Amino acid sequence: MPSKPCSKTALAKAEGRARRGAALSGIGVSAGIVIARALVVGSRRGPVQEVPLAAADVDKEIRRFKAVLQASVEQLEGLRRRVAGILGEKDARIFDAHQAMVADQGLIDEVISRIREKRRNAEFVFAQVIQHYADALSKVDDPFIRDRLADIRDVAGRVIGNLLGEKAVDLACLPRRSILVAHDLSPSDTAALDRGNVLGFATAIGSRTSHTAIMARSMGIPAVVGLAAVLDQVHTGDLLIMDGVHGKVLVNPDAATVGDYRRRIRSQERWLRRIEQDAELPAETLDGFRVQLAANIALPAEVEEIRTSYGVGIGLFRTEYLFINRTSLPTEDEQFEAYRKVAEEIYPHSVIIRTLDVGGDKFLSNLRMPGDLNPFLGVRAIRFCLARPDIFLAQLRAILRASSYGKVRIMFPMIATFEELQKAAARLAQARAELDARHVHYNPNMDIGIMVEVPSAALLADRLARHVDFFSLGTNDLVQYSLACDRANPNISYLYQPSHPSIIRMIQMVVQSAYEHGKWVSVCGEMAGEPVLVPLVLGVGIHELSMSPVSLGPIKRLIRSMRLHEAEGLVDRALACSTGQEVRALCERYVGRVAPELLTN
Ligand code: PEP
Ligand code: MG
Repeated sequence: MPSKPCSKTALAKAEGRARRGAALSGIGVSAGIVIARALVVGSRRGPVQEVPLAAADVDKEIRRFKAVLQASVEQLEGLRRRVAGILGEKDARIFDAHQAMVADQGLIDEVISRIREKRRNAEFVFAQVIQHYADALSKVDDPFIRDRLADIRDVAGRVIGNLLGEKAVDLACLPRRSILVAHDLSPSDTAALDRGNVLGFATAIGSRTSHTAIMARSMGIPAVVGLAAVLDQVHTGDLLIMDGVHGKVLVNPDAATVGDYRRRIRSQERWLRRIEQDAELPAETLDGFRVQLAANIALPAEVEEIRTSYGVGIGLFRTEYLFINRTSLPTEDEQFEAYRKVAEEIYPHSVIIRTLDVGGDKFLSNLRMPGDLNPFLGVRAIRFCLARPDIFLAQLRAILRASSYGKVRIMFPMIATFEELQKAAARLAQARAELDARHVHYNPNMDIGIMVEVPSAALLADRLARHVDFFSLGTNDLVQYSLACDRANPNISYLYQPSHPSIIRMIQMVVQSAYEHGKWVSVCGEMAGEPVLVPLVLGVGIHELSMSPVSLGPIKRLIRSMRLHEAEGLVDRALACSTGQEVRALCERYVGRVAPELLTN
């Protein structure tokens, strides 16, 4: 149900300018065309200015600082109440932590004494004090603590904005029909979103596999990321046309262009209705090859729609989203309830529960601190879990307990070495022993798999295959780590090529190793949901694809339009290519021939 527009904001009208016809190019990461007004969130502001104060003005400045802090606490309380109403008490808890930071007496006293001592404006002093805390925290050797930096920055940005008299945009209560325009959207931004009124995302940074893109697809919202100039070119109130397939944003287009895009929207709607007609049909190629389709989810709440609208299993449950937007860790029982719900609701299909994959761009956004400059290569995923057995064991016990309530499989992310797999397996054995001691039931034969997403694991697949039940290819990371190309950095997105011959070779190697050892292998990276690349994936011998739910319909349509033996021929030709562009061009020609509507919709 769409939520009500905020009566007071009237943001759609504000700041609108008549700059006609600017066309911005970025990366289309979530399909669909949308025409709506822009709502710019986040700040364009540069460094906070230092303003000397006259001695007589110091007390007044301190009073202003206190009044703004109080207003910020009230703002956060309002936000907390609304998020609790929309998403529930649990998701609203992050604002408790934010309020506590604003009310921290030590911090307040330090800022006040520095305003007195240095005779400088409150926003400048406050920003300095926060920077000092942030620098200290970024040195702590605990990723969970370091990740709290994002919260500190979030709160500090709000307080500084209020001190500067900037109008804050309340993401939980937006004007109707808004396209959110931002530098980036953090996980806490997306959790708080007034989903009924967000029609699209347009962000300055990001890539097809960045957190924002994955969330946009999981919410079924068109999105374009990597629009470097978007914050300079777009203002709140501008009319935008956003094309999430071709990565285009048109600013204040003329009436003829709007009319043209409206026609395209209608044609897309007709196409989507046609695709829905395939719902009951199998994902089978014209030459009789059956493909198992599954969905990727981030939150248990998504499972109901998967069951009712798509009738497939869950090939990747990204459990890290249970851990973010909160100040404490979820308990074993809380996790057990979440996993059990998914296992029960998706039954008789199975769910692959991936253990915690924090780090990278999850938890962090544009507010990233210098200490986290290379988070994708740092203490991420299984590395974090092995370093924090308390957190890992609680999750393993919760997953094991849930295994009694459906078809549950467990999967370890980012395995790079054999030793990591051994250590993870040893923790799983320990979790079992702990449950045995408590006389708690679980499925002793639960399948154990790993994500193959680090080149070393792909190259070692023949060894690893002996010790697991399945592999799931995490192509998002496999591409990033193979081509040494940060998956969230739009400046090098030209290098991020899932169609690169090196990637196809690596996937083929993993598939062969798996089959030689009688193990199954799926793809759960975004490649599985990208129509142009799916013939390659099937051609190398993959039988199972797990993807964002919105891709299930189009991919099924493609599978039903193609032939496996042609896809195999395509792989042979791709393996003889030297560049990713050549491979992509081959694939586009093939898909353009068998299912042309997939390239245009
Ligand atoms: C992947 O790397 O392909 C994957 C599915 O995991 P994530 O996108 O969560 O890193
Ligand atoms: Mg990954």
